[in-house]
Amino acid sequence: MIEQLQEEIRELDAQMKKIQLQIEELQRTCDHDFCGDSYYVKCSKCQKIEALYY
Ligand SMILES: [Zn+2]
Repeated sequence: MIEQLQEEIRELDAQMKKIQLQIEELQRTCDHDFCGDSYYVKCSKCQKIEALYY
C-alpha cells in the first residue's frame, strides 16, 4: 500500500519536473509583453514575473 503511494509520488514528481521544463522553455522563447507596477512586471503571454529593484 505504502509502496504503491510512494511510486505514485515518484511518477507525479517526474511529471511535475517535465511540466516545469516546458514552462521554462516557453518563457525562454517567449516574445515577452510585460506589464505591471514599479515592484514587478508580468508577461501577459507566458506569465513570467520579473522583480524590479529601483
Ligand atoms: Zn513572456
